[in-house]
Amino acid sequence: MRSYSVRACIFLVVLSQVARSQEFEVPRADGGGWFKGNTHTHTTMSDGDSSPEEVTRWYKSHGYRFLVLSDHNILTDPRTLSTLVDSSFLLIPGEEVTSSFQKKPVHVNGLNISRAVSPQTDSTLLGTVQRNVDAVRDAGGAPHINHPNFGWAIDQATLAQVKNNKLLEIFNGHPSVHNYGGSGKPGLEEVWDHLLTSGMRIYGIAADDAHHFKEEFAPNRSNPGRGWVVVKASQLDAEEIIRNLEAGHFYASTGVELEDVRIESRRMEIRIKQKSNFGYRTEFIGSGGKVLHRTEYNPAVFELGGEAKYVRAKVRDSGGFVAWVQPVFVKVK
Ligand SMILES: [Zn+2]
Ligand SMILES: [Zn+2]
Repeated sequence: MRSYSVRACIFLVVLSQVARSQEFEVPRADGGGWFKGNTHTHTTMSDGDSSPEEVTRWYKSHGYRFLVLSDHNILTDPRTLSTLVDSSFLLIPGEEVTSSFQKKPVHVNGLNISRAVSPQTDSTLLGTVQRNVDAVRDAGGAPHINHPNFGWAIDQATLAQVKNNKLLEIFNGHPSVHNYGGSGKPGLEEVWDHLLTSGMRIYGIAADDAHHFKEEFAPNRSNPGRGWVVVKASQLDAEEIIRNLEAGHFYASTGVELEDVRIESRRMEIRIKQKSNFGYRTEFIGSGGKVLHRTEYNPAVFELGGEAKYVRAKVRDSGGFVAWVQPVFVKVK
């Protein structure tokens, strides 16, 4: 009995040392503000129903601070829409580099590219994804891999091998992209946790992929306003926005707004912007997609305890809308 309790004590001491030695990688405090934007939308330059000017006006008049027009294999020069750009609203040059492998769609957005990017092909699926990612990088842009479950085209084993890509759509507002998986295929949040657990530093984007700004707004149409990102940046500037996106200094949303996300060495605090009488439930999620802590308080607070490689948070409101707080990685001291 005595030796059992001694052993238990030693175990607890070791366990607490393991816990104590873990700390969050605290992001550099950047000041500035939070900027709402959409990184994926279409116009009549490809298969959208409205002109670049009409689409830009929609986002500007709905409180977005930046927009990427991402037409299929077409770069729209923001200078052609300069009358809509001012200190409150930024257009970032972009394109949806649209390729395929064995008739399955391989779509990679290029954000803040300096020139149009031609779609790339390859003899393998991984090679096709990688070559398009690389082509975006070569044009000075930031890639994000779009709707992997569209056409069930890009599986997680392939995604896990892609290099030099930091952004992945985990929510896309188009009605036929299978965000949530099913029939044996993982949803995009599961895929994201798989990649994070394998050690990849990859951040989750929510985007509209809007095509339909005219006529009826309905669930089976590809309308705007369904998914976006809110980026913490020192100023509204294309390079600043993209740098902070690629550093994970943002949250993705389908409707939940946050006031702030505060990271300290062993503590994460999420301040939710209260909307009328809505209720909120926050999950803090770690390796393998495991829920580490669940709370209905606002602010939602998580204290780093047991072992984790990363911790991310998901805030869901009583109407079903969500905010995804980006993963914060854990370092062992
Ligand atoms: Zn696409
Ligand atoms: Zn698209």
